Amino acid sequence: MREFEIRLKFQNHLLLGVIDRININENDITIIDYKTDSFDRKDLNAKINEYKTQMEFYVLLVSEFFKKKEKINLILFFINYPDEIKIITYNKAEIDRIRNRFIEILSKIENGNFEKNLANCKHCEFAKNEKCIVK
Ligand code: SF4
Repeated sequence: MREFEIRLKFQNHLLLGVIDRININENDITIIDYKTDSFDRKDLNAKINEYKTQMEFYVLLVSEFFKKKEKINLILFFINYPDEIKIITYNKAEIDRIRNRFIEILSKIENGNFEKNLANCKHCEFAKNEKCIVK
């Protein structure tokens, strides 16, 4: 399946994500995300880490949308380093951890005590001169 948009209600919030590609198998689902970033090969692990929350958000969306699946594979494919494909498999316990993580994040947002993650500002579209424009 090519580009796949998921919209769903979760904890009284509307979540939306567009995933590059999803393969639906009998016992699991594979999410494929293509990245076009230019960076030095030595920074690959840092780059993967930078995308961790986005990848976990995709896992949350897919696990909520396809309720019966208990195993989700995620392939992170950097176009500039096709020999460095990153494959992560999330089992039920991991999926539950991710679900709880986002419940906590949403609760903090609702209560007005969500702290900004300033580590990624220089790559974020909500930054100007590398500073957050969100009040
Ligand atoms: S610019 Fe703002 S929204 Fe973007 S990563 Fe930084 S703190 Fe978060």
